[in-house]
Parts: sequence; structure tokens; C-alpha cells
Amino acid sequence: MTLSLPVATSSCQPWRGLIETYRPYLPVTENTPVVTLMEGNTPLIPVPAIAQRIGRGVRVFVKYDGLNPTGSFKDRGMTMAISKAKEAGAEAVICASTGNTSAAAAAYARRGGMRAFVLIPDGYVALGKLAQALLYGAEVLAIKGNFDRALEIVREMAESYPVTLVNSVNPYRLEGQKTGAFEVVDVLGNAPDWLCIPVGNAGNISAYWMGFCQYQQIGKCDRLPRMMGFQAAGAAPLVNGQPVHHPETIATAIRIGNPASWDKAMGVKTASGGNFHAVTDAEILDAYRLLASEEGIFCEPASAASVAGMLKVKEEIPTEATVVCVLTGNGLKDPDTAIKHSNSQFKQGIEADIQAVAGAMGF
Ligand SMILES: *Cc1c(COP(=O)(O)O)cnc(C)c1O
Repeated sequence: MTLSLPVATSSCQPWRGLIETYRPYLPVTENTPVVTLMEGNTPLIPVPAIAQRIGRGVRVFVKYDGLNPTGSFKDRGMTMAISKAKEAGAEAVICASTGNTSAAAAAYARRGGMRAFVLIPDGYVALGKLAQALLYGAEVLAIKGNFDRALEIVREMAESYPVTLVNSVNPYRLEGQKTGAFEVVDVLGNAPDWLCIPVGNAGNISAYWMGFCQYQQIGKCDRLPRMMGFQAAGAAPLVNGQPVHHPETIATAIRIGNPASWDKAMGVKTASGGNFHAVTDAEILDAYRLLASEEGIFCEPASAASVAGMLKVKEEIPTEATVVCVLTGNGLKDPDTAIKHSNSQFKQGIEADIQAVAGAMGF
């Protein structure tokens, strides 16, 4: 007997990473050395239990960007920033980070054969992100200051030393990140009515808007979404209209008091008829647990701000609207917060026999 092995059908095209997929819309040439980990192509997942809390036929999807290679949307920007840095002959890159930028910078820089220096706020980076940066081989420097201070320092460093800045003030980052919007439209066949997104430095909201506008210009969608940005209440400069000197929130990825893309974000709000709102840490944690326990989706606290915010202003959502919430990062990044804030019972110290286990199960 002969065994017949499954043969890949020709309709099964492998994903080639976002630069190859969206090459005509990105500032790359045939001379750009593409540094990729096959990022992008993340799922747009319906979340019916959450949609039910809004009712009125509203459809809700989450763009689960926590499934990128290093576990956050930062990979979209980093494949571009690192490829362009390599094209320019850079040997080292630097960034300030609340965690995810450092993980992505480290992975892509090392893959591209460059050194990666990352400045983080001492004591405020989630465990998984620090683990990643270290294992990828970044040179990690924790400073006695917050993210905003770290960003000021690296901006100056990049002017005086041979290191390329890969924070989202690097324009190639936003070019890469705009592909998130492309993918949403490619799946839905049009832009959603609302796009809900957590906002820290406001790079991603600006990038998504760029993506939707570009796709509209070339006829891939015939409308644009209202852009709804959500900040943590203790770090909500765009809501308050002034920088926050001591930002505080459990959502460390958006613990930012002076967003680098402030002006861009304000432009997006006006142009899209959108808005910025603050959500409390308690509201963020509620959405975080709801996503995991009712939809099976584990995101990090900052990401849950998009869903928390949508639910907070749900009365404003038009009937039968389509809403996309961006889940920016993976829940595994921050195991401490998950364990500390889960509502599940964790019964420990049970005797290793069937009776004891059955008893603990309530039988
Ligand atoms: C970086 C980050 C954000 C904030 O994105 P900005 O572009 O800074 O507004 C939100 N969530 C997660 C998980 C992030 O890593």
C-alpha cells in the first residue's frame, strides 16, 4: 500500500509579511532589505457577547493584533522602521518604551543584524515584555523616570550618537502600522462605522487614520470611520487638553502623559468626527475580564481600554453600525495583572486523590 501525503493546493498562498503584501502602498524600493517576521494578517474576530451588551443590531469585531510575532501591533511599525534603518546602513537602533516597542525593536533589530538599545521606566514594564527584550538580546537600560522622560532622552541621543530612533516619531513606524486599517477593510469589504482604539503616544490612531484615508483614495473603501480614542483616566492628556506630569494606570502600555503624536491625533479627531474619552482602571479591568471569560480572548490591560471605552459610550453607537475595537497587545505580556485581577477561584493545596479533587469540584 502506498501512503498518499496531503499536497498543498495552489490556492493556499503563504502570507509573506506586510511589506511584501502591501508593497505598492509603502515607502520601500527594490533596494530596501526587508526585515520581516511575517507580521500582520491578524484575525478580525466577532465578539457577539460584547455586541449583545449594546444590542440594536450593532456588530462588533476585535482586531487581535496581539497575535503578531512579538505579541503586539508594534511589529507592524518595526518591520518598516528596521528595514529602512538597515537600508540607510544603521548599525544600532534606540527607543524609549513602555515595553512593547522594546520587544519589537529588539526582535527586528537583532534579526536585521543590528544592536538594539532600549530605555524603559524602572519598575513599570510588564514582566513578559522585559523578558522578551532581554532574550532577544537588547541592551536594556531602566531609568529612574517615566516614559515621557525616556523619550526625551532617546530623541537627543539619536541626534548626537550613531543610533537610529525607532519610536513612533520615526515616520516609517506609522507607515507600517497603517496596514492594520488595510487589513480591516480587506476583511469587511469597507471601513467600519467606528474604530475604537487605545491611545498612548497616539501613533497608532494616527496610523490607522492614514490607512483608511489611503484606502479610500484608491477606492478600496467608500467611507471613513469615526475614530474613537480611549485613554486611561490617570493618563488622559488628550481628554484633559494638557500634559499629565505623573501619569498613572494599571495599563502600563498607555501610561503616557505627553503623547508624541498629539497634533496628529487632534487632526484625526476633527477630520473623522471622532472623539477622545477616558476610562478608569476599573472599567479597563472589567473589559479585560469580559473579553477573556466570555469571548476567549486574552489581551493586555491597555488593549481592553478600546472595549471599555466602546461600552462606556455605547448609547452613541448608531443602530446596526459595524464597530472594530483594536486589541493592541497579547494578554500573556502581563501575567501579574491577569493573576492579580482574575475573578476565578484558584483552589490550591488539594490532596492528590480522587475524593479530594471531586470534593473541591463540588461533587
Ligand atoms: C504602544 C501601545 C499602545 C499605544 O499606542 P500608541 O501608538 O502609543 O497610541 C496601546 N496598547 C499597547 C498594547 C501598546 O503596546
